[in-house]
Amino acid sequence: MSGHAINSVKPTISNEIDVIMDCSSDAVFVLALESFKILKSNNNAALLLGLFREALSEHSILEFIDSKSNTDWYSHIDSTLQGQFDNFSGRIKTSDSKALIVEAKTRLILWKNQKVLICIVKEITGFPNQINKFKKEIAFYKTILNEMPTQFAVLSPEWRYMFINKPSIGDDEFREWMIGKSDYDFCEYRNKDTELARIRQENYQAVADSKKVKEWIEEMTTKDGETIYILRKLYPYFLKDKLHLTFGFGINITELVKGEKERKKIMEIMSQKNEALQQFAYIVTHDLKEPLRGITSFSNLLEKRYTDKLDGDALDFLNFIVTGTKRMNDLLNELTSYISIKSNADAIETMSLEKAVAIAESNMQILIEETNAEITIDSLPDIKCHRVYINQLFQNLINNAIKFRKETPKIHISAKMEGGFCIVEVKDNGIGIQDEHKDRIFQVYNRLNKIDYEGTGIGLAICKKIVQLHSGKIWIESDGKTGSSFFFSLKII
Ligand code: ADP
Repeated sequence: MSGHAINSVKPTISNEIDVIMDCSSDAVFVLALESFKILKSNNNAALLLGLFREALSEHSILEFIDSKSNTDWYSHIDSTLQGQFDNFSGRIKTSDSKALIVEAKTRLILWKNQKVLICIVKEITGFPNQINKFKKEIAFYKTILNEMPTQFAVLSPEWRYMFINKPSIGDDEFREWMIGKSDYDFCEYRNKDTELARIRQENYQAVADSKKVKEWIEEMTTKDGETIYILRKLYPYFLKDKLHLTFGFGINITELVKGEKERKKIMEIMSQKNEALQQFAYIVTHDLKEPLRGITSFSNLLEKRYTDKLDGDALDFLNFIVTGTKRMNDLLNELTSYISIKSNADAIETMSLEKAVAIAESNMQILIEETNAEITIDSLPDIKCHRVYINQLFQNLINNAIKFRKETPKIHISAKMEGGFCIVEVKDNGIGIQDEHKDRIFQVYNRLNKIDYEGTGIGLAICKKIVQLHSGKIWIESDGKTGSSFFFSLKII
């Protein structure tokens, strides 16, 4: 306000008490010393007691003091007269007998040349209830925070602890002590390396600077010397662009971390063992093939050069040797294929399953023509997979569907997408499979119809390994009479 404006305002002609009474938002009484008669009052005083202001001057304030609060009131006046300015808080009764809780401040003053009491009264009837309610609410939230299964703490912008829950520090006394303290105090108290506090402070600062949630895993040693892992998560809370609080959560993930370490160790051992096994099997199949080649070529020579010199029995025996070595060779070849199936991320590519079926069909063209096999397909999707293995998978299943026929083979191939997998069905009208054999046919060298059908017993084991390589499963449904349906699932990646 300018100096000119101030000069032009005319002050109200009034004494100080009138001004205080008019402007106060509380009830103000001027009381005679002995009788406590109301000499003067303001509007709020009239409103408080429920009377007209003019009518108040006929009453003493004592008429409105609740009998239960009388003693408090007199001792309040006494201390006022002795110059001690304590507050009176007690009950008053309004003109319509309503009990109110009030807080009063009283002073002895000189008014119109006489000693009087000026008493300022504030109604606080609802306050104690509200405070109680508030206290109860705080207790309720504290209980929740203390009972929750995770560690929780609130930090001031100076990174001092304002609240810590029980799961963070179980010891009540130590928890209380930590309030107002920093992580460095914590390390000192617990005799820990201050590196822990340094890392925490660095993270608090990062959260404050980035205004973003941050999480990290903290490795700690308990007072019993046990190593534990805590997943820490910090949430900054800003008020008007200023860091107000930081909330910190801690979840004990020791079991998980230890489990994961254990799992990695087991995986490493397994992969080493698997590698050694693969190498062993590879060497065995290779080394076995060498003498086999010798037997085959010498048997062939024997057959070629000495057929006319050998009698019937000898020729039969020779024949047994030739078929035996051929079978041995087939078995070793299949076994080598089985062993060499392994995952190769570089070999994964998107391919059409329809094309995979077409390739399998062209590889088996002669067999299909010879048997008049009819192969039909629904629309099949394109998926990411090991192309060569998927071709082999279809080839093995179609080959079996034709081999284990009881009439002209009819094969139908369909697919559906379900739960993140592509599920393919290869259905035939062949001899079917009894329930009790449904699992074992997928194991190496497990054959059911050894006499009637040729085979190595590895085909389905290869299928299973290929499917597992694609995180899927293979299974069969058959009533044992009217054919079989082979299903396999491939994870969609
Ligand atoms: P192989 O065909 O060389 O005998 P596989 O591992 O491919 O070996 O099959 C294992 C066994 O499962 C077969 O011996 C046969 O008894 C049975 N089998 C496989 N496919 C079919 C099918 N489509 N219908 C009936 N039986 C089948």
